[in-house]
Amino acid sequence: MIEPITIDPIGVVHSDFTKSGHVRIDVPRSSIEIFPQYSQALWRISEHSHIWVIGWFHESKRDALRVVPRINPELGEYGVFGLRAFMRPNPIGLTAVKLVKVEDNILTVDGLDFIEGTPVIDLKPYYEPDIIFSPGTPYIKPREPKMLEETIFKAALNHHQEECEQLDLAVKMCLAAEEIFGHLHAPDLQVHVVGSLCLADVIQGICKARLANPRRFSFEYNPDKAMSCWENKQHRATICLKPEAGLGLQPDQPHQALFDIKVWDKAE
Ligand SMILES: [Zn+2]
Repeated sequence: MIEPITIDPIGVVHSDFTKSGHVRIDVPRSSIEIFPQYSQALWRISEHSHIWVIGWFHESKRDALRVVPRINPELGEYGVFGLRAFMRPNPIGLTAVKLVKVEDNILTVDGLDFIEGTPVIDLKPYYEPDIIFSPGTPYIKPREPKMLEETIFKAALNHHQEECEQLDLAVKMCLAAEEIFGHLHAPDLQVHVVGSLCLADVIQGICKARLANPRRFSFEYNPDKAMSCWENKQHRATICLKPEAGLGLQPDQPHQALFDIKVWDKAE
């Protein structure tokens, strides 16, 4: 019999986000207060741009082993070890965040989806070998279009690391492609981009399409164009920025208004 484990929190989260039980993609900047007796453990942490924050979902239930994803109950149940549900036998939360600054024992971070008062049980650096560019994952598509857009935006920003105009365009282009092809990480979905370096980089980052093994991504540099061609076993599609749409994107502009979209059913 393995003995029970005792864990003492090393700090606590401070966030404007106070309501538990809600999944947030678009999270505000927050901070982590490390308790004074652990402050020596922060020595040189600011050499890292990103860290893993490991917390304890103190308000969560612990008795469920199978749950439906909150972001889309229509997908059916998953075992909690195959989801990031709050409810789990040991309600440990794990999030990779950007470390903005460290002042004494206060860490300012971006991207932490823990609520105010969440106990923090550990911090670890995020290293390059942690990056798995294109893992195989089930498509847990958010039911709410807004959340789907936020999820794609987050993937885009994590990859591209700057919020430029071409990033916004690439996000909208990928939303249009998602309506046709579904999961943009699917191993049989190929994408060819004709456009700027930023457009290509962001689309590659969203789709996790590698240049080889398997070959899913290709690119032609043309700063005067913004176009992508997509193909899987069933469909082929081109999504091209309308000339009149220009490159001045309005944040609320629906993607349908921006592009000329052509879709072919390959069975026909
Ligand atoms: Zn850019």
